[in-house]
Amino acid sequence: MENRGYALRYQDLDAISYEGGCACGAVRYRMTSQPLFVHCCHCRWCQRETGASFALNAMIEADRVQLLQGEVDVVLTPSESGKGQKVARCPNCRGAVWSNYAGAGDAVRFIRVGTLDEPDRLPPDIHIFTASKQPWVVIPPNTPAVAAYYKASDLWPKESLERRAILFAALLPR
Ligand SMILES: [Zn+2]
Ligand SMILES: [Zn+2]
Repeated sequence: MENRGYALRYQDLDAISYEGGCACGAVRYRMTSQPLFVHCCHCRWCQRETGASFALNAMIEADRVQLLQGEVDVVLTPSESGKGQKVARCPNCRGAVWSNYAGAGDAVRFIRVGTLDEPDRLPPDIHIFTASKQPWVVIPPNTPAVAAYYKASDLWPKESLERRAILFAALLPR
């Protein structure tokens, strides 16, 4: 499977930043580099939680997200895995700006792409849980899509896998 989007995006991996924030403007943040990978999740939990058809999440190391303004309230919310996700919300307008999932723990944030100032810059690298995709959503033929989940080693670009290895090394007990 080929994905032209990230071939372009990942060439200047750390030279680019992205800023975003909640609807009321109290919370502002900056991603200090490209994300690791961008998931478009079509699971029923994401549909219910967004009130829409899918969630679009850019995965990035937590230490590459700077809170520029405000604070976030973290709300434990049920998720597809059954282990829950921690959703970081603006305490004022309650909009969600990112989540942490049990799998990757607090080390990886799933930035809600729609909260970026320029969300068009981060199209999905993969569509996941397409088994419950709403039928009118048509996935572009060049973007990978899987019925449930996938192995990062099969699809992530080399730079992202290297960053992931650094994360895993830091999580190992000493
Ligand atoms: Zn707000
Ligand atoms: Zn989902």
